[in-house]
Amino acid sequence: MTELTRLVGQVIAVTAGDRSKPTKLEFKEDGGKLVSSNALPAGNDFPVSVSIKPSASGKAVYEKFNLNLEKCPTCKHQEYACICAHSHDEKKK
Ligand SMILES: [Zn+2]
Repeated sequence: MTELTRLVGQVIAVTAGDRSKPTKLEFKEDGGKLVSSNALPAGNDFPVSVSIKPSASGKAVYEKFNLNLEKCPTCKHQEYACICAHSHDEKKK
């Protein structure tokens, strides 16, 4: 069970929203799940930066992406979780 053991002590930090006024989310382990201590900022479309450390003293891995919470026009999911093949580029033009 090496893999499970490695998960213990993971440190995950999420920064969301504009760089001028970012919202920091901290995650705590709760019954085997990671639960955020506060809510995402208002709005439907903002950049998110995630850092994951394998342990408190480990080296952090960073991931940046845009979280789009608007409803997809053609499937029932929100854009970040969209499963249909529609183009997401049209709106931005
Ligand atoms: Zn879709």
